[in-house]
Formats: sequence, C-alpha cells, structure tokens
Amino acid sequence: MKVPSKVKIFAWRACKDGLPTALNLEKKHITRQRICSLCNAETEDLNHAVIYCKMIEGFWNNFFPELVKNKCRSIKEKALVFCEKKEFSKLDVFFMLIWSFWFRRNKYVHEQIRLDPRKIADKALGLLASFNSARKTNCVQIRKYFKWSPPDINFLKLNVDGATFKELDRVGIGVVLKHYSGKVIMAMSKIEISVEESEEIELLAIFRGMQLCVNLGIQNILIESDSKLVIEALQTDSMLNSSLGVLYREVKLLATHKIG
Ligand SMILES: [Zn+2]
Repeated sequence: MKVPSKVKIFAWRACKDGLPTALNLEKKHITRQRICSLCNAETEDLNHAVIYCKMIEGFWNNFFPELVKNKCRSIKEKALVFCEKKEFSKLDVFFMLIWSFWFRRNKYVHEQIRLDPRKIADKALGLLASFNSARKTNCVQIRKYFKWSPPDINFLKLNVDGATFKELDRVGIGVVLKHYSGKVIMAMSKIEISVEESEEIELLAIFRGMQLCVNLGIQNILIESDSKLVIEALQTDSMLNSSLGVLYREVKLLATHKIG
C-alpha cells in the first residue's frame, strides 16, 4: 500500500479487528456499553464505526456504493475484495478514509467534538496526495524556465504532484519544499474539485506550490513536476492561448514575481 506508515499500522490493526470499538471493549469487560455513541442506535463494531454509522454511510454510498452493498462482515474482507480485483489505488483510498473516520469517531468519543465527515475525508485525501508527491523522486525538472541560478547551498526544491480520486470526484494536490540536503521544509496538500484533465491538475499543483512560496517570501526555488507536457508548455509559451491559458499565464506571472 502506498499510504503513510501510521495508516499502514492502522490498516493492520483494523484487519485484525484490534481497535478499541465499543463491542471489543465490552467483550473484554472494560465497558458495558456496546452501542455506538455517535448514533446511539446500533452495536459499534469496526464495520459500523467506520462505514455503516449514520452520516458516514451516506458518504460511502455516494462514492463507493459497491462497498456499502458488499455485506462483508469485516474490514479485512472488504480490503480483500479490492486486492482480488487488483484495485490497489482504491485500497489506498479506502484505508485513508476509514482511518479518517476512526479519527472522527475518537474525536467524538473522547472529546465530544463532532466533525464533518466530508471535511475529514478531504483532509485524508490531501494527506495521501502529499504523501505520494513526496514519495516520487524521478521527476523531470523544469530547469530551463525556472532556473534562477542560485548557489546550490541556498537552493530549495519544490516537488509538486497531483493525484486523482476518480471514485470521489476529487483531485488532491501535493506540494513539498525541500532543502538542498533533502530535508523537508514545508509540505502542503489541497483538495480541488471540478478539475478533470491531468494537464490542468499538474499545472494547478505548480500554481499552488508557487503561490505558497511567493506568499511566504521564499525565493531561489527549483520546481519539479513529472508532466512533460506542462513543462514544455511553460518553456515555450505554446499553451498561452489554450483553454488553460489563464492558468499558464498566472504561473508565469508568479515566476516573474520571484525573479524580480
Ligand atoms: Zn453509529
């Protein structure tokens, strides 16, 4: 799985049903309450806590209807369905989401804070996008256009990447700024909606990354992206009159701002 290690550990515990759900705590005689605190209606096993509880069931139903219909008894069985179909990116999204819904459940159980499932899910997907962005290292560099000739020791590198979550009609943008030594200085992720083309996603990732650097007054950066199309378009100005022309112009403006 290509997810942060804390989510991998969570997934392992979830598959072993080793999380302290109300039902598990009752079985161990730690509490007498097996009913879910969020809905007060059903027994809280893990399946209920992260998928079938009211509020979040609607979320799953909209985006992964097959998952809700698939009446597997455990998270492990559900995960195996993705594995059997070799839908590994769906598996990553699945575990990111159940991890975020478990966090939401804990926030309510321990602090009585009720979080919006949609916001929580978007945060988790943003984290996944920025994780994947940081993981990629073999990127084509857009040196020609973005070269400001700083001395290496003062060089900061901005890796940008976009990830599409088709099932959720969402796009995640990840930005990681690193010191020349490889140390991460800053990482940011953002969820965008209504973005479809991969060119636009990549360009938007560059735009967001540059916007952030300009706002923070960070200079001497080298941007890396793995989209050859976008790199060439930025170097040659060939796309300024295309449907993405406005965004290309904005990126170039930010670059000029930095050079100046
Ligand atoms: Zn519930």
